[in-house]
Amino acid sequence: MSDCLFCAIVAGEIPATVVHETDDVVAFRDISPQAPTHVVVVPRTHYADVAELSAADPALAGRLLATGAAVADAEGLSDGYRFVLNTGRDGGQTVFHVHLHVLGGRALTWPPG
Ligand code: 5GP
Ligand code: ZN
Repeated sequence: MSDCLFCAIVAGEIPATVVHETDDVVAFRDISPQAPTHVVVVPRTHYADVAELSAADPALAGRLLATGAAVADAEGLSDGYRFVLNTGRDGGQTVFHVHLHVLGGRALTWPPG
C-alpha cells in the first residue's frame, strides 16, 4: 500500500533494525521503545488492523503471534513479556498497518493508562 510507513519498512525503503524475518512477517525494533525490549512484528502484506488481518487470513494472524513469541524467546524475556495490538483511535493505533508490539525486560504495569 502506498503511503504506509510499515509497508515502506518491509520493502526496505525506510531503514529499521530487523531482528527476525520470515516469508510473510518482519520483526524490527520500535523507534521509540517503551520498555528495554520493544519490537514490532508486522505481516509483509498490508492489513489495516488485527480485525482485518484475522478475518482475511487467520493462519497468518497465528504466525504473527508465533513470531512474537519467538522474538521474546530470542530476546531472553524468560520472566515474561506483553503483546499489544493497538486497534483504532481509542486503542491508540497510530500506524494503520497491523503490528504486534512485543514488550519486556522490566515489570510492566497493569492496567494501561
Ligand atoms: P501504534 O501506536 O500504531 O500501536 O504503534 C506504532 C509504533 O510505531 C509506535 O510504537 C512508534 O514508536 C513506532 N514507529 C513509528 N515510526 C517508526 C519508524 O519510522 N520506525 C520504527 N522502527 N518504528 C516506528
Ligand atoms: Zn502497510
